[in-house]
Amino acid sequence: MASSNHPHDHDSGEGLVPVDEARERVLASIKPLQPLELPLTEAYGCVLAQNVVAERDLPDFASSAMDGYAVRSSEVAGATPASPVELHVVGRAAIGERPIGTVGGGEAFQIATGAPVPAGADTIVPIENCEAVGDHVRILVGSPPGKHVRPAGEDARAGETLVQAGRRLQAPELGLLATAGASHPLVHPRPRVVVLSTGDELIPPTQSPEYGQVHDSNAYTLFAALREAGAVPTLAGIVRDDVDAFKDLVFSHLLQADAFVSSGGVSVGERDVVKAAFFRRGEVDFYRVAMQPGMPQGFGEVEGKPYFGLPGNPVSVFVSFEVFIRPALMKMMGRRQVLRPEVTARLEEDVVGPKGKTQFARVRVKRTKQGWVATPTGGRGSNLIGTVARANGLAIVPAGVETAPAGSQVKVMLFRSAED
Ligand code: AMP
Ligand code: MG
Repeated sequence: MASSNHPHDHDSGEGLVPVDEARERVLASIKPLQPLELPLTEAYGCVLAQNVVAERDLPDFASSAMDGYAVRSSEVAGATPASPVELHVVGRAAIGERPIGTVGGGEAFQIATGAPVPAGADTIVPIENCEAVGDHVRILVGSPPGKHVRPAGEDARAGETLVQAGRRLQAPELGLLATAGASHPLVHPRPRVVVLSTGDELIPPTQSPEYGQVHDSNAYTLFAALREAGAVPTLAGIVRDDVDAFKDLVFSHLLQADAFVSSGGVSVGERDVVKAAFFRRGEVDFYRVAMQPGMPQGFGEVEGKPYFGLPGNPVSVFVSFEVFIRPALMKMMGRRQVLRPEVTARLEEDVVGPKGKTQFARVRVKRTKQGWVATPTGGRGSNLIGTVARANGLAIVPAGVETAPAGSQVKVMLFRSAED
């Protein structure tokens, strides 16, 4: 596309920034978001910014694992059905209450599962090994010290680290923090990302197009990709190819944005509104990356907020998100692993790409007995969003390789989890 109206021969890769270098440039200017103390339900999925330490033992009292009687192990050691040990029942330990009194010589407490073990007792005899007789109980089977007792501090001791900084809070961590009463952990918040779609031809998917009009699909691709990455998207809507209207829309969203993503308007056409708006201000750089799709890119900061100016073609948007924006968001969220997992797969068909650029070919990978196998899902055209919808990975055909032949091994970035 742009090679026809640009002095460089882009298929050779001349004058283009290599993909890794472009990503390094982006990541170098991205900082993790300032940590906040968030309630557990909001902290879910976020990365912990500070170790959480147990303030008390977990659990903080010894409790019974069975319904039965709390007794002294030394007194019931020799008990058998033929010669039971008879104890005086002097109290009852219920859940949620401190037991009143202690278990002395010749005594027992009736106890419920989960109830605190009364002082003096060191073992629990399950109810099926007992016979109640009035205010006495006959113990039919001995029980060693600690049996059926869940000791205090078994999960963690006071002062111990429960969850380390850098850990992402998922179900087990939220449960552990709640157990410990750590109700507002310090986490890196989710980035709030404002999404803009530029183009005079665009209409929302709710309208039927007049001839030549195009549904704004990029906003929805980005919405889902942002959500999946853990960010909080706001769709600012469609903006015409008009510099003033575009700037107004960007600046009206500054307060609620940690980052901006726009699609369209970054190449060299006269209507390229994003470029026209920012080029002279020098806040956003426009450059050409040695990749297909996704060559023209804008990246910089608007009032200190990262700004990603993506090209307009739907596949370019998806690939640019995966290659640049997702890693940047991961870094903002304090994640250590910012890149997608990759597998090495055998190509089932030839993949032809431009020689001087890294090609991100949409493929469907599956695991076979012989290892991973990748099948291309369609043509190279960066307008063919269906090729992405059928895929689960992006095969990386490096710059310098024009044809990756059927049977050769390629690296594939997986963008869906195995069960999808
Ligand atoms: P541009 O980069 O603005 O020149 O756009 C390149 C191509 O992508 C054009 O064919 C546009 O119609 C198309 N395009 C731009 N923005 C969107 C969008 N939000 N949704 C779908 N297609 C778009
Ligand atoms: Mg446009």
